[in-house]
Amino acid sequence: MCIFCDIISGEKKADIVYQDEKIIAFRDINPKAPVHILIVPRKHIFSINNLERKDLSLVSEMIWQAKEIAKSAGVQDGYKLVINNGIRGGQVVPHLHLHLLGGFNL
Ligand code: AMP
Repeated sequence: MCIFCDIISGEKKADIVYQDEKIIAFRDINPKAPVHILIVPRKHIFSINNLERKDLSLVSEMIWQAKEIAKSAGVQDGYKLVINNGIRGGQVVPHLHLHLLGGFNL
């Protein structure tokens, strides 16, 4: 049972901003910044700790799409990319995801 797998399968609705055969990106339901998008691999990988070398291209793809999505969301001038890892690292959803946070008024 994984909430992000439910979004990926279409069982649960999300505000999807991008998707391809490997990656899906949707708006965070509880945004911590004016732009807060989660970039998620379709493959269920629990966390960074569970990454295998064969998944490395997937991580590059996540970062690449974060850059592209930042551009389309109009925050390419400045944004943060965050991956929380493990309970003590603030990870709540047990499916690897990259937070794209932007639109800060600094
Ligand atoms: P993390 O703490 O790194 O595991 O982040 C999980 C993120 O997923 C949090 O920022 C939540 O607000 C977000 N989240 C949880 N459920 C949903 C959902 N159904 N749709 C969109 N974002 C969600």
